[in-house]
Amino acid sequence: MKPALKALVDRVTFLYEDLDLTVVKEWKETHRAKAVGYMPIYVPREIIHAAGMLPVGVMGGGEGLEIIKGDAYFQSYICHIPRSTVELALSGRLDCLDGMLFPSICDVIRNLSGMWNMMFPDRYVRYIDVPQNYDPEVGGSFWRRELAELRADMARIAGREFSDDDLRNSIRVYNENRTALNDLYLARSREPWVYPIAEMYLVVRAGCVLPPEEHTALIREYLQLAQREDDRKDKDHSRVVIVGSFCEQPPVGLLKTLERAGCWIVGDDLVLGLRWLIGDVDPDGDPLVALSSAFLANSTEAASRYEPGDAKGSQLIASVRDNDAEGVIFCAPSFCDPALLDQPMLVTALDRAGIPHTQFKFSEDTGQFAVIREQAGTFSDSIRLWSEV
Ligand code: SF4
Repeated sequence: MKPALKALVDRVTFLYEDLDLTVVKEWKETHRAKAVGYMPIYVPREIIHAAGMLPVGVMGGGEGLEIIKGDAYFQSYICHIPRSTVELALSGRLDCLDGMLFPSICDVIRNLSGMWNMMFPDRYVRYIDVPQNYDPEVGGSFWRRELAELRADMARIAGREFSDDDLRNSIRVYNENRTALNDLYLARSREPWVYPIAEMYLVVRAGCVLPPEEHTALIREYLQLAQREDDRKDKDHSRVVIVGSFCEQPPVGLLKTLERAGCWIVGDDLVLGLRWLIGDVDPDGDPLVALSSAFLANSTEAASRYEPGDAKGSQLIASVRDNDAEGVIFCAPSFCDPALLDQPMLVTALDRAGIPHTQFKFSEDTGQFAVIREQAGTFSDSIRLWSEV
């Protein structure tokens, strides 16, 4: 690996592993400003950014955190991310966050927001209740009110008002970030061997802690540097889309394992909040109306989002087609109700479309991948055999 790419990969690896959020503390110090955390999946980061604060994605403790106190807060039959998030908080690692947003994903996150209120009564906590009705007059007017309240709250935490123009500017900044992410996903889909999944994931994941402007520049730099690695060659791998990892994130080792087992991951729902809105948000009109309209009309498909009728699975199938994928791997956290309740509907849609699929579950601190490697390898081989029939 050439030195410039190695330096970039080392940096994103550090950002991923640094549970103390050093980069957030440094940003706050340099900018004399505040930071607001958010849990997966979607929050309107533009509003935090427009208030001059740093939005910080809290994606759990991953594989590097020993759970000492967090387990005492939850029953055993529950996913891992809430207990590792409580552990991060109780160990003081999230003290640099001046507020915390809990988007509406599932009961676990809803309960976690209530626990946060009790554990940290002096800190700002808001449960972000996103609309499940996509009529602009119903869900739209509800969401615009929520956004207006969030805007007022962010101004209060930041200690300064911000204008519609500030918000429009933040919308432009995040439009550029989404475009860069999209370019990265397109490049990976075309030549997955040039952008190994572990590298790409860490580059994407850096968007949880970096300011969006810096993250966009990082993605652009990575796209250029990876292209210069002339020893990266195509392999006889199958092309797959993974689904189910939108909230608790699989360990990087698991993603590497899938690739080593013969699967190019050409589509995924990892760190989905960064790519929740599809396409640009209108940067010129009323900014809250623009954010609301984008959410209603251009949100990605996700388990936490209601889809009427038979629509469930249509975006997954489109992702398979658009990325020229040959199969789908359901890769969901253990005990993740939204992902696992969605799965039968998605399986039905895939079966109807004749798309092969397999499934396994993980925990963010899963450390053994031998079984998954065998399963993914067998799936990859089977796909190739089927496609030759
Ligand atoms: S992993 Fe699933 S069940 Fe757990 S908090 Fe996230 S969405 Fe909810």
